[in-house]
Amino acid sequence: MTGVVAIDGPAASGKSTVARRVAAALEALYVDSGAVYRGITWAALERGVDVHDGAAVTQMLAGLDLRFFARDGAVVFSIDDREPGDAIRTQDVNNAVSPVAVIPGVRIQVVLWLREMARLGPLVMEGRDIGTAVFPETPCKFYLDASPEERARRRHREMVEETGIEEAEVDASLRRRDKIDSSRKMDPLQVAPGATRIDSTAMGIDEVVSTIVAAAKSDA
Ligand code: C5P
Repeated sequence: MTGVVAIDGPAASGKSTVARRVAAALEALYVDSGAVYRGITWAALERGVDVHDGAAVTQMLAGLDLRFFARDGAVVFSIDDREPGDAIRTQDVNNAVSPVAVIPGVRIQVVLWLREMARLGPLVMEGRDIGTAVFPETPCKFYLDASPEERARRRHREMVEETGIEEAEVDASLRRRDKIDSSRKMDPLQVAPGATRIDSTAMGIDEVVSTIVAAAKSDA
């Protein structure tokens, strides 16, 4: 495959698992664009920068040394020579990332970085605005969704063992994020023109993966 497969959708819609497997099937690199927004959020929290202060976050970002590279079938990144790892998946980052992702200076910079990643090879990139803003010209776009209840169940299952978090808290946090992500002015979460919409509420992962792989191969 050449080019980019764009997979957008709300939090916990299954994008990461699906995109990773689609990338492996197509021998493309997997990119988790949300991880970049999370990395910036993590850096801001670590430095005590107010995530609601757009000017302060943008100024911090200008001083960060973000580098990305291909490893084990995915594009990964470091910030000031450190790879954040699981530190970008905490509930603190979950709650602070959407306010960071509304800041225009952050979005402009991240979109540039994400586009540069295409130099590393064919990509399967998942996020919120990949088909609308990052690679709007790619013919291969998907919008993955699932009901809010199913998404909360899935995310709770992932988090409960390590954190003991209640499903109601996961549900509230996802709804808060969905609201900010889909109502922001710049590149809100929406179905890209020409995207294939897949509701995975009652579908198994295998079925979603094979649908996307088949479509990507026929578009290539
Ligand atoms: O995909 P994930 O849930 O890890 O993304 C974290 C957050 O990053 C989202 O809630 C959203 O605010 C932001 N994001 C974005 N655009 C993307 C990917 C993620 O605004 N392409």
